[in-house]
Amino acid sequence: MMNFTDEQRMIQEMVQKLARDKIGPMVKEADVSGHSSSEIVRLLAENDLLKMALPEEYGGIGASYTTIALVVEEMAKVDASTAMILFVTQSLIQILKQWGNEKQKERFFGQMCSGDKVNAFSLTEPNFGSESAAIQTKAVLDGDHYIINGTKIFVTNGDIADFILVFVRTGEGERHRGLSALVIEKENAPGFMVGKHEDKLGLRGSDLAELIFQDAKVPKENLLGQQGKGWDILMTGGADMRAYGPGAMAVGLARGALDYAVNYAKQRIQFGGPLSNLQAIRFMLADMSIQVDAARSLLYRTVRYMDSGPGEKGLRSRLVSSTKCFASDVAMKVTTDAVQILGGYGVMKDYPVEKMMRDAKMIQIFDGSNQIQRVIVAKSLLS
Ligand SMILES: Cc1cc2nc3c(=O)[nH]c(=O)nc-3n(C[C@H](O)[C@H](O)[C@H](O)COP(=O)(O)OP(=O)(O)OC[C@H]3O[C@@H](n4cnc5c(N)ncnc54)[C@H](O)[C@@H]3O)c2cc1C
Repeated sequence: MMNFTDEQRMIQEMVQKLARDKIGPMVKEADVSGHSSSEIVRLLAENDLLKMALPEEYGGIGASYTTIALVVEEMAKVDASTAMILFVTQSLIQILKQWGNEKQKERFFGQMCSGDKVNAFSLTEPNFGSESAAIQTKAVLDGDHYIINGTKIFVTNGDIADFILVFVRTGEGERHRGLSALVIEKENAPGFMVGKHEDKLGLRGSDLAELIFQDAKVPKENLLGQQGKGWDILMTGGADMRAYGPGAMAVGLARGALDYAVNYAKQRIQFGGPLSNLQAIRFMLADMSIQVDAARSLLYRTVRYMDSGPGEKGLRSRLVSSTKCFASDVAMKVTTDAVQILGGYGVMKDYPVEKMMRDAKMIQIFDGSNQIQRVIVAKSLLS
């Protein structure tokens, strides 16, 4: 489909094998429990997948956006939750690469080089989701520390993260002009605690938690960029992750559902022959395949563009949002059709496609809903 380097193909094959042989067998238990599996996280760490984005000089892999997308895609083919734990961890590393100063890189990357650290990204609040410019969690500089008060919700990896990028209001101006980004080190933030663990429809093997800040104290050195730069951080590194994160997850998930449906249709006998002999089923499979290939091509185009340099701002954001939106709509359609092709077995927990359908629904919502992605695409087109 695209020319990947030998190294990228090697990593892709390694992840395929890891996902199929080791992670796959543990996925059901995590889905039933509604919690991430510490064993899965351990495997990610052991295989250096939690430090893919970390620069080589800090002991990481120095993976490109394309390589990370390939890894997330292959993992999501088997389990979207594991892909989620992984990409969110890479997103904080990417943002630190772009926005961290040398001291911060040394300090945070120095700890992340062990390869077992999990990261989180926290923007959403009870009263502000899509309207992120209006968030209210406040951080006030008091001597050498920021004092943070407020509540964040729906934080992926929130229960298990070692480092969390938190967007706060420092008040330089109204709405987006008054936002800043702080790195919270879980072990070094008195007044910070993890709240409610969410029990959700899909992606049940990745944790989603509430975070509570009650006069939480965070060293002022943990501010990324300058005070008031939070929105810029969100619009650059925060936006980029939609391609190698949910975009790649959705492509992997859709590929997994298509493969399963094709094999099932070849084996299930009705009316004296396999389902795959029926034109109605053949056309459904054909449409699924067309959509998967289109989403995959768009994903690779986008991450290639991101790897080629900063590029043109409007085009970059349009490609990223189009990828997230299109790929997750495709994943929703393809997983739903896979369930349909399996008939009654499709909605049974003994078969993987009902979980894939539940997981796909989540991707249409998180990291900016697909309505918001369409707002961004339209803005880029019309400005
Ligand atoms: C599985 C999962 C993981 C998540 N992980 C994280 C995370 O790690 N960190 C984090 O900060 N957040 C996370 N979130 C939160 C997620 O990003 C928000 O749920 C999402 O941005 C939507 O916000 P909301 O839920 O408040 O919906 P609302 O903003 O209340 O929107 C409700 C509906 O209205 C639509 N809508 C809102 N505004 C507009 C508009 N201007 N135009 C058109 N339609 C609009 C939305 O598309 C949606 O359909 C996660 C959510 C989920 C489900």
